[in-house]
Amino acid sequence: MNASATAIPEALVTLSGVKFAYPGRSRSPILDDLSLSIGEGEFLAVLGPSGGGKSTLLKILAGLVTAQAGSVVVGGTEIRRPRRDVGMVFQRPTLLPWRNVRDNVLLPAGFAIGASKAELDRADRLLAMTGLRESAGLYPNQLSGGMAQRVGLTRMLLHDPRLLLLDEPFSALDAMTRERLSLELQRIWMTERRTAIFVTHSIPEALFLADRVVVLAGRPGRILADLPVDLPRPRTLETMGGARFNALALELRRLFDTVAATGVPAQ
Ligand code: ADP
Ligand code: MG
Repeated sequence: MNASATAIPEALVTLSGVKFAYPGRSRSPILDDLSLSIGEGEFLAVLGPSGGGKSTLLKILAGLVTAQAGSVVVGGTEIRRPRRDVGMVFQRPTLLPWRNVRDNVLLPAGFAIGASKAELDRADRLLAMTGLRESAGLYPNQLSGGMAQRVGLTRMLLHDPRLLLLDEPFSALDAMTRERLSLELQRIWMTERRTAIFVTHSIPEALFLADRVVVLAGRPGRILADLPVDLPRPRTLETMGGARFNALALELRRLFDTVAATGVPAQ
């Protein structure tokens, strides 16, 4: 691929012509000829209805499944298997019930026993940043849903990944906790400035967090819109009541309505 074909010159992530179908199922691909670039340090939200291939896209980027065609490049090298420089958080955190918060954070380092001094120090610093310092000794059954998701976020950050993948991390939480964690994620992201891809089906959540929103929908999943979010940071709860926020939300809602009614976006 030559430089002029790349939308963002300093792209950290470049997908080009990606095709993916799950094996052993009907042959219709989940994604077909998908191309997308994500700039270094950018916060991208991927918005779309259920079944549109959002999780599949993240699994490809995480190296958990492999595309049948096209290329997926992160930091200059093709993704073929899970890598330390790509971190992921799922909808429900996969915590080991018999390990405390600190050890669950240290899971990718092989727990406290296998972890290096640097990893232990980083885990403690991250636990402080995510508000879990006082809870480091608690076990998963002693945590609220919001705290458990913070543990997942902290663990994702342990190896200082260049790319953060977040698959509907707040969707199982109540509305208040969700809002609070969105504010915290923005604060963490503004401190660490890692490239992030955040999957959600919530328009307000996408607009609140992202620099750019892409809408993925249809079968096979296609990018129906690619919308820059020109709202100043740090965004606050008041941002969500502002005129610009509402205008962008309306634009996305209209797009979804047209897709739901006709299967194709307007224009
Ligand atoms: P989304 O995250 O947007 O809801 P997914 O990527 O999870 O969408 O799923 C896209 C499509 O792929 C769905 O139709 C789903 O049923 C199918 N699918 C997801 N995972 C698998 C799998 N492991 N095997 C077969 N089909 C799958
Ligand atoms: Mg999903």
